[in-house]
Amino acid sequence: MPARAHIREVGPRDGLQNEEKILSTAEKIRLIDALGATGLTEIEVGAFVRPQNVPQMADTAEVFAGLRRRPGVTYSAIAPNVVGARRAVAAGADAVQVFLSATESHNRSNVNMSVEQSLANVADMGEVVRSAGIPFDAVLSVAFGCPFEGHVPIERVLELCGRLLDLGAERLTLGDTTGMAHPVLVRQVVLAFRERFPRQPLRLHLHSARGAGLANILAALEVGVAEFDSSIGGIGGCPFAPGAPGNLCTEDLTHMLHEMGIATGLDLPALIDAALLLERMLGHVVPGQTIKAGICKHLTG
Ligand code: ZN
Repeated sequence: MPARAHIREVGPRDGLQNEEKILSTAEKIRLIDALGATGLTEIEVGAFVRPQNVPQMADTAEVFAGLRRRPGVTYSAIAPNVVGARRAVAAGADAVQVFLSATESHNRSNVNMSVEQSLANVADMGEVVRSAGIPFDAVLSVAFGCPFEGHVPIERVLELCGRLLDLGAERLTLGDTTGMAHPVLVRQVVLAFRERFPRQPLRLHLHSARGAGLANILAALEVGVAEFDSSIGGIGGCPFAPGAPGNLCTEDLTHMLHEMGIATGLDLPALIDAALLLERMLGHVVPGQTIKAGICKHLTG
């Protein structure tokens, strides 16, 4: 088991983009500031996508402009193409992530391009981002199963990881975009990845749409993965089933890791405060569990 785990907070992007209510720019900035006060060192601020496709992310450049940047915190953005990558760099993003799906049907439904077209795009984006001197990361979506195509062969996942690295992605994240992973599969995929890319760090973006999220984290920890994405309050990540859990919840994940003696550098009460702030802004209860059950007393001392 790793002694320490690193969490990238994706709530302001992956969470808010799935919310019906669109927060104001000032509210987003306040939320990101509250998240920065919890010890998080990596926060996904927003997305440079077409506003007509994702109106929740239309003001990402303004959010970046208004951020009170905390030293040591990486404020990242996602971009689907070169135009988005240029906008992210111009807005002052500290890192840019591109998404690619492991299957043709998901990639077409997500970005309306074939996987090969997306890969050509990745090469161009990589040049834009790297010439700005900031990290360029790739997220491989539906790496553990696709809602359209079902089972995704591990060899396919590894092949696309190799292509992304060849095209200049510095870091890779495997996404369980619709919550189809289970602990045995997580273990198999991670071990196969390690064998193929022994020196390449790996991050997992796991979802809990079918309840297996934290079990999948345990499986990943057991084979040495220590970098995860999660979302404050557990918001987002399940656009087709409102109210159902999607993204893993940052404070639930942190609570479990601390109980297991795995350090995160995060302040749990401050995370709960940020989740409560988010609830007030959204005007509805968030899916996270710790915010309802409370932090176990021995963890707060
Ligand atoms: Zn997600």
